[in-house]
Amino acid sequence: VLLAHNVQSFQILYFCYEIYKDKLCRYVLCIENNQMGNSLSNEVAVKPVQRSAASIHYIVIGAGPVGLRFIEEMLRRDVGAHITLLGNEAYEPYDRVKLSGVLARNIDRHSIQLTLPSRTQAVNFRYCIASVTRIDRNNKLLTDSLGNKWEYEKLILAVGARPFLPSIPGNNLSGVYTFRNLKDTDALCARMARAQHVVVVGGGLLGLEAAKALRYANTKVTLVHQGEYLMNRQLDARAANFLLQTVQELDIWVQLGSGVRAVLGDSRTTGVITRDGSQIECDTVLFCTGISPNIELAIKAKLAFGKGIQVNSGLQSSDASIFAIGECCEYEGVTYGLVAPGYEQAAVLADRLTGGSASYTGSMQIARLKVVGEDVISMGEVAQLPAGLRVSELSYKDHKNGIYRKLILQKNRLKGVVALGGWNELPRLQDALQQARKLHWWQRLAFRMWGNPWPITATDDITQWPAAAIVCQCNRVDVASLIAAVDAGNSSVESLQRCTRAGTVCGSCKPLLAELASDTTSISKDSLWLALFIVSLAGIAMAFLVALTPAANVANSVQEVSWFERIWNDKLYKQVSGFSLLGLLLLASLMSLRKRWSRFSWGNYSGWRLLHSILGLTAISGLILHSGFNLGANLNRWLALNFIAVIVLGAFTGIAVAIAHHLSAVNARRSRSIARWLHIIVSWPLPVLLALHITSVYYF
Ligand SMILES: Cc1cc2nc3c(=O)[nH]c(=O)nc-3n(C[C@H](O)[C@H](O)[C@H](O)COP(=O)(O)OP(=O)(O)OC[C@H]3O[C@@H](n4cnc5c(N)ncnc54)[C@H](O)[C@@H]3O)c2cc1C
Repeated sequence: VLLAHNVQSFQILYFCYEIYKDKLCRYVLCIENNQMGNSLSNEVAVKPVQRSAASIHYIVIGAGPVGLRFIEEMLRRDVGAHITLLGNEAYEPYDRVKLSGVLARNIDRHSIQLTLPSRTQAVNFRYCIASVTRIDRNNKLLTDSLGNKWEYEKLILAVGARPFLPSIPGNNLSGVYTFRNLKDTDALCARMARAQHVVVVGGGLLGLEAAKALRYANTKVTLVHQGEYLMNRQLDARAANFLLQTVQELDIWVQLGSGVRAVLGDSRTTGVITRDGSQIECDTVLFCTGISPNIELAIKAKLAFGKGIQVNSGLQSSDASIFAIGECCEYEGVTYGLVAPGYEQAAVLADRLTGGSASYTGSMQIARLKVVGEDVISMGEVAQLPAGLRVSELSYKDHKNGIYRKLILQKNRLKGVVALGGWNELPRLQDALQQARKLHWWQRLAFRMWGNPWPITATDDITQWPAAAIVCQCNRVDVASLIAAVDAGNSSVESLQRCTRAGTVCGSCKPLLAELASDTTSISKDSLWLALFIVSLAGIAMAFLVALTPAANVANSVQEVSWFERIWNDKLYKQVSGFSLLGLLLLASLMSLRKRWSRFSWGNYSGWRLLHSILGLTAISGLILHSGFNLGANLNRWLALNFIAVIVLGAFTGIAVAIAHHLSAVNARRSRSIARWLHIIVSWPLPVLLALHITSVYYF
């Protein structure tokens, strides 16, 4: 009998067990309310747990991210819910999504642990390590691998999936690995110390991530993929080619359109034979060839199954007391291999079990991933839709910045998106995809030309995104919920994460949270803020000077004409100042392209902004020389007033940018956005008024 008193000693104990399990007869461990229990004995009956007569005993099998999320959702609704969680891994529950980071040594393995509800949070919750082997549906009884019995009233299967290992000769040799759990990760990490050459089989998300992680130890890595291009389920050939370049730059040797027919070796791996019969010498083979939902328990219990455990819109299996969520379940013929659909299912099920009427209607296939350091987006119908359905594809490439984007449209409505390289428009695209929005001809044209169907200015500021736009893909947290959380006083990224759960899975949306949180540290100082502030103030002062100073008088005789009057009243000088003003305005508007045109990336943006402000200041000074403080009448007056308004609002935008680091992030962004939009709106009539002014001057 071995006793473990805390999680660390439990882990040591478990490893001992792994080594000596043939010699041990029975092994039972219980962790109650996140504490180690001491129930180690040969015979363990189900412990009676205090509960109210009305409460139902739920058993959740599977302590993966989805099982944990279900428990969290249940306890949020009913903190007294009586739940037992059974998991068969020898670790505290952890976030599987982050395993690639652990393999690559980018993150510490302890940082991926998921938090179990504490004793104070949930008195009727307990977590036990047990591998369930049988479901007795008639008696509502579970049996685990040690013969212990567990009574349930409602059973939730969140047993996930396991790696699919092709049945080829040699797949059980020493040196053959899969990558699914922390145990695999530990084994791979240990192997990397002596591996010379690893063949990774499978060029999907997992294979690519693993290949990159394994390069960490400078091991030679070859990736063998049977598709014609990488990530062929999520990407198209062009996007995959971009990705291939990145993979090859990592010194990973890639074989496409190939596959492994056999692993060679007597007891340990010495190589693989590929589909074309050639041989690759290696000492380690890692299979990342997809997953198979864990359905054996369900099959033995005679539940309906297909690829996964079949469920209805209430996540209920063919037995009314048994439910399935996460990677093990199949809804309308579809199983999901990402974590977000499982989280949606967990929330729906918790709602239904606590008396709600939520209904699961399937999840949109949305993958926003970081693959070998590249931002990869794949949403909706990415595979070619059947011909004849008025399907069209639009693509945009920017080789220099490593950007590739493709929109798949049906009757001009957005059906799918593939993208490589960053794309700030993602939430808006997702919204358009979910609502099957139409992209008008000008939006399609804009996409072809600039790679964006919408003006960039509307989306680089998260507060400008549509309320329903999703910021955190993993937890499906939208802008509206985040703004509500900020308004409720969550002023840091951490508290936003705690409150909304955004950014707690893969963490890729944390920069957006930082933007939204009213944490002053999240807005950094513009490098030229002081100069910008001074120039903008000077611009405002000059604009008021022009507007409020009475018009200069014309001298009574030619002897009395001053230099100033000669400039503003002389025809030649007037033309010079007029065209200089026009030139300045054209230059200033061209400069705004630095931000709005992605191909124009030369120079530092703060520098361009300052120059833009200096041009504005010069232009308003030029107006004095051109008009002699005389704003004119009718059309000329409108032109002068419009010009002054453009300068004042531009200067206010400059001030908003310059002092942003003194404001809360939300206020900084709001004030900048309002000033900038007003500046843009009042700029629109200017070219028309100018054209009319020039025409009238020369015509009359
Ligand atoms: C390395 C890696 C990277 C990934 N990256 C991403 C990503 O970037 N984005 C994304 O969306 N998804 C990613 N995924 C997929 C994601 O991890 C899964 O979608 C998610 O873990 C599914 O959660 P689940 O709870 O349904 O199943 P699982 O995580 O598989 O959990 C099921 C649990 O049930 C246990 N179990 C099974 N049978 C029994 C039994 N009989 N008794 C007791 N316990 C049992 C299993 O041991 C396991 O602990 C990644 C996966 C891996 C392996």
